Amino acid sequence: MRQTELFTKTRREDPADEVSKNAKLLIRAGYIHKEMAGVYSFLPLGLRVLEKIKTIVREEMNAVSGQEILMTALQEKELWEKTDRWDDAKVDIWFKTKLKNGTELGLGMSHEEPLVQIMKDHIKSYRDLPVSAYQFQTKFRNELRPKSGIMRGREFLMKDMYSFHSEQSELDTYYEKVEAAYERVYKRVGLGDYTFKTFASGGIFTKYSHEYQTLSEAGEDTIYISREKNLAINEEVYTDEVLAELGLERSELEMAKSIEVGNIFKLSTRYSEPLGLVYLDEAGKSYPVVMGCYGLGISRLMGTVVEVLADAGGLVWPKAIAPFSFHLVSLGNSAEVIKGAEELYKELAEQKIDVLFDNRDLSAGEKLADADLLGVPYRIIVSDKTLANGKFEVKDRRSGEVSFMTASEITALV
Ligand code: ATP
Ligand code: MG
Repeated sequence: MRQTELFTKTRREDPADEVSKNAKLLIRAGYIHKEMAGVYSFLPLGLRVLEKIKTIVREEMNAVSGQEILMTALQEKELWEKTDRWDDAKVDIWFKTKLKNGTELGLGMSHEEPLVQIMKDHIKSYRDLPVSAYQFQTKFRNELRPKSGIMRGREFLMKDMYSFHSEQSELDTYYEKVEAAYERVYKRVGLGDYTFKTFASGGIFTKYSHEYQTLSEAGEDTIYISREKNLAINEEVYTDEVLAELGLERSELEMAKSIEVGNIFKLSTRYSEPLGLVYLDEAGKSYPVVMGCYGLGISRLMGTVVEVLADAGGLVWPKAIAPFSFHLVSLGNSAEVIKGAEELYKELAEQKIDVLFDNRDLSAGEKLADADLLGVPYRIIVSDKTLANGKFEVKDRRSGEVSFMTASEITALV
């Protein structure tokens, strides 16, 4: 893509009404647009990152036999009353609206109830189990004072998967598979070294749920981590009793701020029982279906990558989720530079390598500052100097390392 064709512009100044690093940088770089507090639109560059994260998550959910679906945002009050989750006194983050005839509706903040309702049409016998379904969907939550940018939206993108089983033991086995899939996701998006499986409250009929927490000073959570054992405990369950149960000593744990990038639960029959999702066993006897649920904040994950990896110059994207692999920047207006940059751009494009080509007629200082701000993994400079040298200058955005390469060496990088 030619940068002259990209409609978004960068800005030098931080937006006045943002405190979080992720919102400041993503707005300055033109990745997102703030509609109102906690509500952001994704612009071309931002959407490319979001889609790459979704692709990784989709591959990993498919690998554990998840079947992708798309449920509705509009939710029926009666369904949520059956599980006692409609009342604002019980769930205080609902956005509610009304039909013209006065019928109350909710905007989905989670999707256990509607999926159980769907599954009642499809799960009849033990032969129909196990099954697992997931979606990428906009969730609506009336969060109090969101100040963490896209990490805490009132409207945000979540991947939520739900699994259905005949036995608790089968759920236990499947849950472990999903844990491994989550670990692969965080590793692939570049947060593997910073993300810990964390024991947290909120399990239903089991003592814990598990969160995936990424270390960051920008986090709203506090956890106690053991790097050696590669796990952590959320402060909400950090008690002597829990420590003893997990075989951990206070002295081996280190306190840290963190961001919750995922949360998985064993639900047991919490939703299947009140909603009547049952299956018949071999003898024709009826039992409630045993469930698990697996949430992962897609937009929050993007914000977390910014919080963890961005530097003083701007955004820094891991290769797997960067909007482009290369940022080709021409410096100067000589006929040789224009020709050299155009030729390299065509060569990369022919090889289907995704490259952003800064062909704008701006000063070197402006173009280099923008390249740093946008955070594409490799910046390639074409200038009179590099042409005289016979090689292109390639800078690794993350390490700052500069090397000189031929066109074929550049294509070999991806
Ligand atoms: P939190 O404790 O941060 O409010 P939660 O426990 O309510 O989150 P879940 O209902 O478990 O969140 O949702 C699954 C995942 O969705 C979370 O682990 C998080 O990554 C993401 N998420 C939750 N709330 C938001 C939000 N307001 N904006 C962006 N992502 C969110
Ligand atoms: Mg949670």
